[in-house]
Amino acid sequence: MTADAAAADSAGSASSLHRSRVVIVGAGPSGLTLANILRAASVDCVVLETESREFIEQRPRAGFLEEWAVRALERRGLADRLLENTEVHTECEFRLAGERHRFPYADVSGHRHFVYPQPLLVTDLVREYADVRGGAIRFGVRDVQPAGIDTDQPSVAYTDPETGERIRLDCDFVAGCDGARGVTRTCLPPERTTVARHDYGIGWLALLAEAPPSSDCVVFGIHPRGFAGHMARSPQVTRYYLECPPGDDPENWSHERVWAELHERLAADGARPLNEGRLIEKRVLDMHNYVVAPMAYGRLLLAGDSAHLLAPIAAKGMNLAIHDALLLADAFVAYYGKDDDSGLRGYSAACLRRVWQYQEFSQWLSDVFHGASSGDPFLAGITAARLRRTLVSPAAAIGFAELYLGKDTDY
Ligand code: FAD
Repeated sequence: MTADAAAADSAGSASSLHRSRVVIVGAGPSGLTLANILRAASVDCVVLETESREFIEQRPRAGFLEEWAVRALERRGLADRLLENTEVHTECEFRLAGERHRFPYADVSGHRHFVYPQPLLVTDLVREYADVRGGAIRFGVRDVQPAGIDTDQPSVAYTDPETGERIRLDCDFVAGCDGARGVTRTCLPPERTTVARHDYGIGWLALLAEAPPSSDCVVFGIHPRGFAGHMARSPQVTRYYLECPPGDDPENWSHERVWAELHERLAADGARPLNEGRLIEKRVLDMHNYVVAPMAYGRLLLAGDSAHLLAPIAAKGMNLAIHDALLLADAFVAYYGKDDDSGLRGYSAACLRRVWQYQEFSQWLSDVFHGASSGDPFLAGITAARLRRTLVSPAAAIGFAELYLGKDTDY
């Protein structure tokens, strides 16, 4: 029996049947943005999420939204609380050889960054979808299994966490918004799918400190001992990153060692001293990326991290997840409202254009961040030259700012 036939069999044996036009697997930024727009357009959908509502509303991750994404959410009525509570950033700072170099990207590009922690965005999107717009969402579901995606009658089966009942949702389409470790990507036939992977061979110790930000902007510390980053999350919490060997054990990083390295790698003339605080998150990210192409097969369409992962080097993942969701939502609305399937047919290619631009930028920025600590004097030299050019050449500055902030060509 093939994997798809086995899945169809397991879905077929479900004890309870329901129907929805679109089943959205995963309640992250991509799934919830999509669900909200479909609900507002009266396109019937159900969201399935393996975690509890409390868990997803507290899971710390991203914090920076690009202006085009905020404006697109605003146009959909999804940014009221964000705009009330966000902090707007217009500059970033590079620290190199003990010197500070401000980069005023808003002056250069006309666009800004919005600081809004991912758990707050997820909380807003769940509330708007489930509590305000009355959308259907099931939390804590188990053993989610799509089936029949290459037919015009796909379905998704899952086990209800309270009753243990196996439920099958018949649908027209499955939206795979279940992140990097989800199940939907595994339903794509390998012979029809390309997965392009890149491993940076670098680790980042990702930290959240219960400490106010120590600068009014993002700080990138380029240092022979390794990269260090500072990013505000809220007036009380700051995210820090420290380059470390991939696969390193977070337990190797005591409170004292973390703060000693941050002080050293972020030191620069005239810089404010770092505000220290309790470390409330400490984990090692092995920096790697992938891109799945095409992002759709049959009646399954992937969005967000399920289709493409970007290491948090350039803070792009959540922005891309929202971009996919906007395109997919428009495509569904055109399909159901105007019988126009061109958006669905062009969905993957349209998403991948931005995905590859951001992948290329992340690669470029990774070289700049990690050249000085690479142990290769040639790489250190050329990456320092790249950064100097970005800081002094107006043409290079525009190129950098355009990619750092993203463009709103599609939205
Ligand atoms: P997710 O947010 O992963 O959501 C997927 C959902 O699906 C989850 O709720 C999961 O529980 C659920 N799920 C999984 N499997 C199943 C299943 N089988 N059935 C049902 N549900 C399932 N991005 C930025 O843009 N800016 C940043 O500053 C930034 N910083 C980051 C910092 C860190 C430390 C990390 C780890 C990531 C960061 N990112 C950043 C990336 C960003 O967090 C992700 O790109 C974003 O969460 C992707 O959203 P998504 O909806 O595609 O997936």
